[in-house]
Amino acid sequence: MAITCEQVARRLTELEEGGGSAAARLSLRAHLALCRRCQRYVAQMKQVRETLSALREEAVAPASLENALETFRRSR
Ligand SMILES: [Zn+2]
Repeated sequence: MAITCEQVARRLTELEEGGGSAAARLSLRAHLALCRRCQRYVAQMKQVRETLSALREEAVAPASLENALETFRRSR
């Protein structure tokens, strides 16, 4: 059963994480192999996810620094 680009966009995360039926995952793969638009979409999603996780790591650093400083101040 063929799926549409909209269905790919909606179900991509679910299917990537192993959700849905084997047939659903198969038709997603088949669609991705043929559809440039969805290949671009998947690449963009991946980039966004990598950017977000990089941002999260940066955001954590100053907070841990502040915590360390606070612990240091209190210990004196
Ligand atoms: Zn598509």
